[in-house]
Amino acid sequence: MSRLRILSNGLLLAALTLGFIIVVTSDGGAGTGSNGAIPSAIASTALETPMVKPPSAKASTRKRPAASPSQKHSSEQAARTPHPARPDNSPPAQASPKQRSRQGDEPPAKRGTVYLTFDDGPSQYTPAILDVLRATHSTATFFELGFRQAQHPTEAAQIRAEGSNIGNHTYNHPDLTKLAPRQIQWQLAHGPRSSCVRPPYGTTNRTVERILSRQGLREVLWTIDTRDWSRPGTKHIVKSATGPSVRAGSILLMHDGGGDRSETIAALPYIIATLQQQGYVVRRIPGC
Ligand SMILES: [Zn+2]
Repeated sequence: MSRLRILSNGLLLAALTLGFIIVVTSDGGAGTGSNGAIPSAIASTALETPMVKPPSAKASTRKRPAASPSQKHSSEQAARTPHPARPDNSPPAQASPKQRSRQGDEPPAKRGTVYLTFDDGPSQYTPAILDVLRATHSTATFFELGFRQAQHPTEAAQIRAEGSNIGNHTYNHPDLTKLAPRQIQWQLAHGPRSSCVRPPYGTTNRTVERILSRQGLREVLWTIDTRDWSRPGTKHIVKSATGPSVRAGSILLMHDGGGDRSETIAALPYIIATLQQQGYVVRRIPGC
């Protein structure tokens, strides 16, 4: 009996030990296997994520302006026609005289880049905008109209000479989604020469995008509409351009053409000073 018990205990111990070794080995094996498998899975996910993102990001950027096309449409038309301005011309509270004195200084430590864009020009307001950009060591992209560029060739040349760049905003600002492919091509061909195109009103569709991509042109929309076209008051323009939704990579939409842009010009020094204080540099869209 006792021998049997010793034997069975011995066998039990051996079985337990063997089981332990098997468990350790298999865990180790699985660990080794997973060390090879999981990182590659993560790696592929990490690789896939950016590949998946652009279409959705593109879809969202396409959706954003399209979400309020009527607003945008009427607003840009309103920008060209008299529009009741809000009686708000009080100076913005965001920028103090101290901030203004910093405008000539180099920007502080980088938090990132905010891209500044102006649409519908050039116009008589463009030189004043270039003055502010020069004084603040900033640049911007001007999405110009072909017919206005013909009216203001000096301003157009000055933009490039100052280190800013020019995008194509078509010849005379039609809604491209309502045009036939041939008309879209005509609008692009008679707009400013640039590899970047901003469709008027931010309205786009597959036909527009197919034509752009076939010609090697890049569609550039925006992430923040300062609504300067509606002349909401300098303070409101500054607030929308420097608010919590601004982050590295934001594209600000402003206007140097299409109507009275005095509020835009008044707001611009405060916008750039505030963004620089927040640690941003203000730049043109690269590659346009
Ligand atoms: Zn426009």
